[in-house]
Amino acid sequence: MRTHLSYELQVLNPATEEVVATVPGATAADVDAAVARATRAQAHWAALAPGDRARLLRRFAATVDGHLEELARLEVREAGHTIGNARWEAGNVRDLLDYAAGGVERLTGRQIPVAGGLDVTILEPLGVVGVIAPWNFPMPIAAWGTAPALAAGNAVLLKPAETTPLTALRLAGLALEAGLPEGLFQVLPGHGTVAGDALVGHPGVAKIVFTGSATVGRQVMAKGSALLKRVTLELGGKSPNIVFADADLETAAAAAPMSFLDNSGQDCCARTRILVQRSVHDRFLELLAPAIEAVTVGDPGDEKSQMGPLISATQLRRVRSYVPEGADGIRGKAPEGPGFWFPPTVLTGVDPGARVAVEEVFGPVAVVLPFDDEADAVRLANATDYGLSGSIWTRDVGRALRVSQAVRAGNLSVNSHSSVRYWTPFGGYKQSGIGRELGPDALTAFTETKNVFISTEGPAQ
Ligand code: NAD
Repeated sequence: MRTHLSYELQVLNPATEEVVATVPGATAADVDAAVARATRAQAHWAALAPGDRARLLRRFAATVDGHLEELARLEVREAGHTIGNARWEAGNVRDLLDYAAGGVERLTGRQIPVAGGLDVTILEPLGVVGVIAPWNFPMPIAAWGTAPALAAGNAVLLKPAETTPLTALRLAGLALEAGLPEGLFQVLPGHGTVAGDALVGHPGVAKIVFTGSATVGRQVMAKGSALLKRVTLELGGKSPNIVFADADLETAAAAAPMSFLDNSGQDCCARTRILVQRSVHDRFLELLAPAIEAVTVGDPGDEKSQMGPLISATQLRRVRSYVPEGADGIRGKAPEGPGFWFPPTVLTGVDPGARVAVEEVFGPVAVVLPFDDEADAVRLANATDYGLSGSIWTRDVGRALRVSQAVRAGNLSVNSHSSVRYWTPFGGYKQSGIGRELGPDALTAFTETKNVFISTEGPAQ
């Protein structure tokens, strides 16, 4: 790819395949210029009084709040998200900004006892931070990095995914409307191998927050290592949904469909490996089948739709490649005709080592695998390179705790599928990533700790 040539990105509506917009793509030279602007803006921003920075971020949150419906409708068009989800996603950006704004005056260092003086730690901003986002949750994931980075006194350059630049661009416009300084939060739509690569290799960018595939995550880390760049990596998942025989089976079966069908399965936390204790396996499938068939798949702009299309033709081809013609299991319904549609699918009788049982499909496809006892459930749950999320269904509190401790994943839920809240930490074990986002420590990830010792003994004689 020639990195200096100008180019355009075409944004398609995944539900209709119509062109929604054409957006100029950022070149390496554009990234250079953006880093220079961001560096100037960051110096000004970091020098503002904490209360003033917090006030501007709250104003940004309020401006987003005033445009929730517009942002949500834009996400329906560029990403095919259901309108219900898209409203939640726009609201999540507002909430993240509000939450991060509350941290600005609370970003405190420590005082450590040292003889002969006073020892304090100071948390200083890193400088310019690059946020590289995927297409599956364009708004929330952009905000997970951007809001705390800004609150900690940094400037942010956000590179959205090729297919979903529109809400990111609109958010940058809203930041200016809210009064954030010019250059502090810039959006650089473009190819990963051009704009993303230039950000990762730029000496003026202190940290990269990358969310995306494990393959590209490794490339980001390798390239960034030449500059010892700080990285947070949020990568893929192949999360288990473990159903024990003593669970409330009706509730577990009713909750299972949307735990992997939400956002058409394009969710790094999707519970795509349903592990069911052998003694209740058949009963669980009897309960699961009508729940899958009842999921409404259709026009994402329709309030009644629970699931929309996949993001692109490429993604549709990829998902199809995991589901053999005539495979055993449960199939829901999906529209036919234009758009990148794939029906809800649960495969049974699958070998635990099969591609579909170990690789991240990133589509509305799950497998059901039986297990014998608690030890077998833990073994199967951990039999993946990923370690992002998981759910445990049981009425036995001791078992819930034992299995929560034994499953190597960053975000677990017992008798529910909740895992992402802006005020609790989120991130992966193993190949699911490095570092944590969100939660009470989110701002600290965008600081360096400086230790200063002040002698009370006077200058040495
Ligand atoms: P991807 O890795 O292809 O792309 C992610 C981003 O990286 C895009 O903006 C892309 O343009 C950019 N990119 C591509 N090549 C690059 C390079 N060489 N240098 C710098 N940037 C580059 O991922 P995707 O297909 O957009 O997203 C799907 C993946 O994201 C899935 O694997 C999913 O699990 C993961 N994901 C993880 C989380 C999490 O928090 N753990 C959340 C959402 C998605």
